[in-house]
Amino acid sequence: MKPNDSNYHGQKANKAYFSVSQYKDFMKCEAMAMAKIRGEYKQPMTRALLVGSFVDAYFEGTLKQFMDEHPEIFTKKEALRAEFKKANEIIARVKRDELFMKFMSGEKQKILTAEMFGVKWKIKIDSYCEGVCIADLKVVRNFKSIPFWRYDIQGAVYQEITRINTGTRLPFYLAAATKEKVTDFDIFQIPQDTLDFALSEVSGNIERYAAVKSGEVEPAPCGECDYCKSIKSAGIRSYNELGGI
Ligand SMILES: [Zn+2]
Repeated sequence: MKPNDSNYHGQKANKAYFSVSQYKDFMKCEAMAMAKIRGEYKQPMTRALLVGSFVDAYFEGTLKQFMDEHPEIFTKKEALRAEFKKANEIIARVKRDELFMKFMSGEKQKILTAEMFGVKWKIKIDSYCEGVCIADLKVVRNFKSIPFWRYDIQGAVYQEITRINTGTRLPFYLAAATKEKVTDFDIFQIPQDTLDFALSEVSGNIERYAAVKSGEVEPAPCGECDYCKSIKSAGIRSYNELGGI
């Protein structure tokens, strides 16, 4: 199968291909990643997560469809909920900025696939300027929260999959805008040595994740995530484990 706009996030595509978000799932918890792949576990979609998708949909020109598919973004009186009014404000703000819009002017939601480190990958680029750069739009709480999300891994994989497809290594940028009361926004380039380091980390981990995904190796549960809690059985533990005073 070949991922396209309609099946990109589907179970078949997730079984056949690694994606950056699936790779990050394996980093967090192999048992949870496998439960997602089997279709037994779905991460709850929070309104905070939907805000990013709302802004993505705007730039892709599919906001009307997005609104039809997500009635939860409206109140009972059919007004946009506060988070999405804020999203509209963010869109209006960045639209007034020439540089920001230049980075968002590439081909939207461009899907590419390639084999890398012995496994098949799929990526979806927010804004792909052929021969020039790769940009990903991020709506974040504030700039300080950006490193937490490990966008260096995304940049490294996107850059390498694009290079395998086209022969050209393109710089990777985050077009970031904040949900702060007054929106801040800038274009962050992830330096090449940071991307190189992240890619070497992926190459070191992927063999095990691929072995888990194919069923050769048992997935290790982290024991702490929501999925692990949802399938656990009670145990007897020492009160003193909890630390306390
Ligand atoms: Zn877990």
